[in-house]
Amino acid sequence: MKKGISWVLMLSLCLALLCVPAMAEGTYTPGTYTGVSSGHEDGLSVTVTLDENSITEVTVDVSNETPLIGGVAGEELAAQILAAQGTEIDGVTGATETSGGVRRALADALAQAQGSAAVAEKTPVADGSFKGTAPGFGLVSQMTCEVSFENGAMTDIKVVEESDSQTGEWFASAEELLIPRLLAEQSLGVDAITGATASSNGIKNCVAKAIDAAGGVADEWYTPVEKSDSTVVIDGYDVIVVGLGGSGVLSYCAAADQGASVFGIEAAGKIGGNSVCTYGPMALNSEYLKNLFNNGEDYIDPDEVYQVWIDYVESEEKADIISEAVYSSGKSLDYYVENFGFEFEGRGLLGSFVIPSWDKEWCVYSADPDTGWNILGPNKTFQFLRAMDIAMAKNEKNTYMTELTGEKLIFDDAGKVIGVQARYYDGTTYEIYGDTVILATGGFLGSSEMMMEVYGSNINAMGDTVNDGTGIRMGQSAGGATYMLRTMPMVHISQVANLIRTDDLTADQKAVLTALALTTDMPMVTTQGEAWGNTNQSGTTDEKVSVEIVFAPDFMYYNIYTQADIDSIRENGLSEAQAGATSMFLSQGGVLPEVGTPVADIDEILSVGAEFKDVLIADGIEALADQIGCDAAVLSETLGGVETTYYAVPCTSWCYGTVGGLDVDINMNVLREDGTPIENLFAVGQDSEGVCNIDGKAYTPWGGQAQSWTFVSGKIAGTAAAAYAMD
Ligand SMILES: Cc1cc2nc3c(=O)[nH]c(=O)nc-3n(C[C@H](O)[C@H](O)[C@H](O)COP(=O)(O)OP(=O)(O)OC[C@H]3O[C@@H](n4cnc5c(N)ncnc54)[C@H](O)[C@@H]3O)c2cc1C
Repeated sequence: MKKGISWVLMLSLCLALLCVPAMAEGTYTPGTYTGVSSGHEDGLSVTVTLDENSITEVTVDVSNETPLIGGVAGEELAAQILAAQGTEIDGVTGATETSGGVRRALADALAQAQGSAAVAEKTPVADGSFKGTAPGFGLVSQMTCEVSFENGAMTDIKVVEESDSQTGEWFASAEELLIPRLLAEQSLGVDAITGATASSNGIKNCVAKAIDAAGGVADEWYTPVEKSDSTVVIDGYDVIVVGLGGSGVLSYCAAADQGASVFGIEAAGKIGGNSVCTYGPMALNSEYLKNLFNNGEDYIDPDEVYQVWIDYVESEEKADIISEAVYSSGKSLDYYVENFGFEFEGRGLLGSFVIPSWDKEWCVYSADPDTGWNILGPNKTFQFLRAMDIAMAKNEKNTYMTELTGEKLIFDDAGKVIGVQARYYDGTTYEIYGDTVILATGGFLGSSEMMMEVYGSNINAMGDTVNDGTGIRMGQSAGGATYMLRTMPMVHISQVANLIRTDDLTADQKAVLTALALTTDMPMVTTQGEAWGNTNQSGTTDEKVSVEIVFAPDFMYYNIYTQADIDSIRENGLSEAQAGATSMFLSQGGVLPEVGTPVADIDEILSVGAEFKDVLIADGIEALADQIGCDAAVLSETLGGVETTYYAVPCTSWCYGTVGGLDVDINMNVLREDGTPIENLFAVGQDSEGVCNIDGKAYTPWGGQAQSWTFVSGKIAGTAAAAYAMD
């Protein structure tokens, strides 16, 4: 989305000295220092270059924060640091967590330069219970924690209000794993739980506010937590699976079913990955589904699906694999139902998104009987956990670890893959050795670097950002080639650029902001200032489908309103198209006013929207072009040269994950550039889904195909890896 995410602001020493009062000689040891902290997300850093007495250069890297808001905040905060020559900065409205994180990262860097790593003594906190509220991952309300203090220490942390758990199943891992660590370490410097960063940082930010409320100073509670530098060696596995989302668990099960010993490596605090947010997979003529929902009869013509698919990818190069993806989809599902307890009784058979005659094509997971559904779909982690229990019982050596991040492949002297190096959350290095490795890390949505490399642009993440391309990079390190890496990322959702998770606007006001972003009856303008329309490049149907936004430059466009349009909304209300706009999954619980009902608070909505960078307000075309970053002449032509006050509301893509990955053959063996297989290295799920797709088009949009690939590729790879290892 935004190209420049870190900003280097240079100021000459002489200018800096003019601006700030002279400081005592020798405050700092001159040099460059980097401090790290967290804001809404992890991995925020501030790098300062110092002479003896002053800050001469600042780099603020907030690339992990929400792209638009974090981006602008970084620029402003870097300027504030230079002006203040220290941590006494005002911060940026609409980016409280980012501002706080930048302040702490700066304090860390300056402390290093002063040779004083941590605060010696904390400001006392009162005994008793105190509350703090901050945004978590939840869409409809903030999170509140109650923290108890006794004799200057935190004795208990309770999350007393939250909506995070309604958006998926990750919140539980943040709550269960993080809170005991915060209490044990008595520090907010504890890392967020991988895979639940926003919920974890939400808890930490609530606790920080409770510390302040108890009379303490939260910034003093970020004592760095020491990491282990030990190494653990684990040897003798047949199969190592990196990533235990859908395709990883299914590979693990298939390998275990052959009697292989299997070690699973999962970076997040829980297994399941993106696969636990889905509705479910495509499965053609599965016996189980036929019997459940179609009186034992076939419900789709697989030959037709195969032909449509081959036509869609415009090539027969991977016809053998596409044939498997079609003809084995039902059988693969049946295999996991029979052997590993999977259930898909959720909602019957669903029709294809794009081919109306395929009215029974995919299915929905059964929900956890205890916890039911979350807003993304059925709670289903229990199904993956149950499958892993069954798989582990097949060989006493079988095991897996969560919070263990695969980092790189280990090779022998001849260049053969012999294992995986991974890092546990506490810093311990693990060297795990085995005969075969299956890469199942879910693509590269979480790597801004790879997104920029592949698409020249970043995108808002709706899916897991733990999936940062590590599996693909590992495959490449072994000489593996990629295939259709430029298949368009999976997008079904448009929404404002920066979700406002605070209560600066009410839910109904947030709904109006969403409507302004999503409507289709205003001039739509690309980041290059040109007119943007629905061009149906996805090759699906003539209907306006949300995947189309993925074809807009930088995965976004602006809806442009003139002052007259806004005056009309204030007096006459929203248009029919505006009042009909909703964002799948990412609506924030508000209700839009009926068509014709004046929106009296439109100015407040726009002005708060502007603070959160969800609205650009500009006097005239040139000023608007400047804010969008496009050529004023181009924009002027698009807008017909009319000079007025403009309101540009960005509409952005929210992405599930990437699609293109490593090149594989029919066994899911990773292929080298010359087409030869790397015999003991396999790639599944989104790490190899390019083989079903084509560069420049939306991923095969039938309905449930991405999940279906986890079943098909997982079964093939698990079986093949076990066979190779045990031969
Ligand atoms: C909200 C949402 C709804 C969706 N709905 C559907 C749907 O209804 N139907 C459909 O077909 N598809 C759907 N999809 C897409 C589908 O979920 C994915 O295509 C599929 O889950 C991919 O499976 P995977 O195994 O490749 O990745 P994942 O299931 O995401 O698994 C990857 C795993 O690897 C782990 N990992 C990443 N890096 C490392 C590392 N370095 N070391 C160790 N572990 C690592 C991750 O934590 C994760 O657990 C949806 C996606 C989202 C986000």
